[in-house]
Order: sequence, then C-alpha cells, then structure tokens
Amino acid sequence: MINQKEDWHIHSSYSRDSKTSPESIVDTALKRGLKKICVLDHNTIEGGFKAREYAKGKDIEVVVGAEINTDKGEIAGVGLTDEIKSRNLLDVIAEIKSQGAKVFIPHPYGSIRRTKRCYVLEDVAPFSDYIEFYNGRSFFNFNRRKTRRLIKDFNLIPVSGSDAHFAFEIGNLSPRFLYKGVAGFFLTGILNLFFFRIKR
Ligand SMILES: [Zn+2]
Repeated sequence: MINQKEDWHIHSSYSRDSKTSPESIVDTALKRGLKKICVLDHNTIEGGFKAREYAKGKDIEVVVGAEINTDKGEIAGVGLTDEIKSRNLLDVIAEIKSQGAKVFIPHPYGSIRRTKRCYVLEDVAPFSDYIEFYNGRSFFNFNRRKTRRLIKDFNLIPVSGSDAHFAFEIGNLSPRFLYKGVAGFFLTGILNLFFFRIKR
C-alpha cells in the first residue's frame, strides 16, 4: 500500500512550522527519485503552486493541496485551485468538492499530535477519497489495522506521506525501519524547538 515513488504530504515554508522552500522540496524529491509529490501546507495552497511552477519541465508531478485546520481537526484537500476559506469541517469538505478536488484524511491514527481530531473518522470517510495509510511523523502507526478497515469499508484510496517539515524527511516512507522513526522523532523534536520554539 506504500508507493515509494510518491510522497503525498510535504510542508513548505508557506507552513508556519517549516522552512523548506518549494524549490528545495522539488529538488530534494527529484534527488530521492520521487515521481509525484503533494505539497500539503497548513491552510494555504501558495507553496503548492510555487512548487508546481518550479517543477514545470522536470520529471516529477506536483499536486497542489492544503491541510486545513478545521474546528474539528485537520482535513486535507488535494488538487485544489483556490484557497479554502471556511474553517468549519463540513463547509471545508464542501469547498474542496466544489473545486473538483479530492478530500484526503491525513494521519488518521497519528499517536503523537498536538492538534486533536474531534471528528469521528467513520463520519468523514463517506465524503473522502484518500486516506493516509503511512505518515512519516506518526512514528509508531499503531492502528494500521483500523486504517485498513476504513479503506475497505469506505472504498478509500490509500496514499502515504512523509509529513516532512524539514527537507531531510522528504520521501520518508519506510515504516520497516522503526529506528528511523525513533531517531526522527527526537531529531525533528529538537529541530522544531530550535527553529520554531513550538511543538508539533
Ligand atoms: Zn502535515
């Protein structure tokens, strides 16, 4: 279920907690042999547009998306053409769909998150198209089995993302290497404190 050539969840410097420029995202992704990436900034599609512009003529597809912080937790849109204005969960879903874009449930069971999800996954899944099967920052991915059930019950398309906020995380789609996750947990934690003085 993990396509090592596609990273569906990358944050650029247009997210308040990332410093990676859209250009360096594309360059890093190319270096790592990725064929498709989705720039999924917090609440904006600007970084995605910049990355897609820069990737023109290069051997990589850039999908423009955004991870919206709604009143009930995070939900993402992929293939967006305009900024999502609402922050009400149901309105955000409607806005995504009205653009002809797809609804993407990020990190359904991420265990270490600051922003709590308050919606029930089973309520949102019927309106969704994609779900994040592997998330590079949900270090232990405890509920892979539950995600599989959601995929089956609601006919969702599983995709995987690094959730990169630093360039070195781009393409981190290897759950087999748990040590990478543990090391990454401490490293990104320290870098976050150092650069942003915030927690994930
Ligand atoms: Zn994210």
